[in-house]
Amino acid sequence: MKTGSMRIAEISVPAIRHNVRRIREHTGGTVIAVIKANGYGHGAEIVARAAIEGGAALLGVTDLEEALALRDAGIEAPILCWLHGAAADFDAAVEADLEIGVSHLAQLEALAAAAGRAGRRAIVQFKVDTGLSRNGAAPAEWPALFARGAELESEGRVRVRGVFSHLANAGEDNDLEQARRFDGAVELLRAAGCDPDLIHLAASAATFSSARLHYNTVRVGVVVYGLSPFADRTSADLGLIPAMTLRSQIVALRDVPPGTGVSYGYNHLTQGETTLGLVPIGYADGMPRALNGGGATVSVAEHHCPIVGRIGMDQCIVDLGSLGRKVRIGDPVVLFGDPATGVPPVEVWAELMRTINYEIVVGIGSRVRRVAVDDDGPGAFPPAGPAALPPTGSGSGVAVPPPERVEGDGAPRIERIEIADPESMHELGRRLGRRLAAGDLVILTGPLGAGKTALARGIGEALGVRGPVTSPTFVLARTHPPLGDGPPLIHVDAYRLAGAGELDDLDLDLDGAVVVAEWGSGLFDEHGSWIEVTIERPTGSTGPGDTVDGDGLADESVEPRAVAVAGHGPRWRSGVLT
Ligand SMILES: *Cc1c(COP(=O)(O)O)cnc(C)c1O
Repeated sequence: MKTGSMRIAEISVPAIRHNVRRIREHTGGTVIAVIKANGYGHGAEIVARAAIEGGAALLGVTDLEEALALRDAGIEAPILCWLHGAAADFDAAVEADLEIGVSHLAQLEALAAAAGRAGRRAIVQFKVDTGLSRNGAAPAEWPALFARGAELESEGRVRVRGVFSHLANAGEDNDLEQARRFDGAVELLRAAGCDPDLIHLAASAATFSSARLHYNTVRVGVVVYGLSPFADRTSADLGLIPAMTLRSQIVALRDVPPGTGVSYGYNHLTQGETTLGLVPIGYADGMPRALNGGGATVSVAEHHCPIVGRIGMDQCIVDLGSLGRKVRIGDPVVLFGDPATGVPPVEVWAELMRTINYEIVVGIGSRVRRVAVDDDGPGAFPPAGPAALPPTGSGSGVAVPPPERVEGDGAPRIERIEIADPESMHELGRRLGRRLAAGDLVILTGPLGAGKTALARGIGEALGVRGPVTSPTFVLARTHPPLGDGPPLIHVDAYRLAGAGELDDLDLDLDGAVVVAEWGSGLFDEHGSWIEVTIERPTGSTGPGDTVDGDGLADESVEPRAVAVAGHGPRWRSGVLT
């Protein structure tokens, strides 16, 4: 981690630009990007610039202070703020050309007075309460408020630029009821003589639930950050990319015997001999203390390792298991990020804490450095996730040498192949994939960085399933649906399965799919026929220079692999590859 910082919230600028563009395309109207509370914990300045680049026309914050801080930081875009204390400094607001959400008559008068003192117009957006029972003018106040707004506008002291309301997210019927009340408010405002440009009701949830609620502008927060406002729809379901990756590193390693007490209170005892890794993030940094023992994992070298023992103010402990021998001090750890890159999503913490993703990201502490990452720099980080291998076109024609047949005394039939580089591993996967049909099982065994993911990716490509095939991560098993007539691919990370029972619990249609299980040896004993692919790195390749960045990535050093393909059972009696 080249910045030297032990705790980093890496913010993807391209993700934020993409998300805003996606929202614009989806609604066809104006987008107000809500960046209150330090951009939902992402860093308000970083998000402000990225959102504007993505096409947001305005920024929204709660407080005047937040808006003024953005101005101080040089953000010149229109900014709307809507919650004001009794002594709000509207002089500063007018001076900074902020748009003020006005909820009652006294506020309107105070703002108009400030405008008078400054000798310029204040920009008003009326905030009306249509059923949330919070901030915003109640319907009974609308006639007087709007009439006074029209009057001040005709005097040149304010410009009524918008009208907005906020939904209670209390169901479809309630949304429509609030929308009808909002229609009434807009009508009343126009009848009073105002002509608002921006009419907005929808926040993130309504933006993705009903076009009826879009009006000509949406006022969105959580989706800008690539997170889903729905419990049952993922970021990817909405076409969004999570922008925050919470990163740390391993700062200490300890090999311990079974029964070792871990952290305060010893509420975790190691089950077997294992390696513990110390990660310098704790509840001061927004990692909920109550995650303790809940089953959350962190990503280390493309694998998911459980957080064990009580979480401290500054640090937590992960059980690296057999991975421990491969991990070095300084190796990167991802606590959450975009699951499409193979790391756990923030929703794991949110679910375990019975809260929403919003609360987790906004709670990331001030000690965590926010680092914006753009396409063209700063290049301080290796690319997140397992995009480890250069893409190889199916016609790349990489030669895989013919297997050397080893005649065992009966089953299994073992074919041994020397694989020169990641491209050849990918090609071997394609070759294997072409032999597979629904009901087939492939077990991949081999150390980190051996190329298991490259092999799985090749299998997926040959089967013609929807990608990307990456190491399965926060899910124990990932199903890749077929793009054509073939079977789906189910990719299982058995490393994290407690036993075959846990796989049964997932209720997958294993017989209707090709199953590729990493580390699955011994789990599928009842399967009649299966293929076990064992990848061995050459001896002597695990020396100090050999970082563990994940399957394939570690090995751009292009070291040869010894691969054994063993066909077990009647289906593979005459070999797998021949
Ligand atoms: C926070 C907030 C939003 C954004 O909500 P999301 O659900 O994050 O889109 C919009 N409007 C108001 C008034 C808010 O307070």
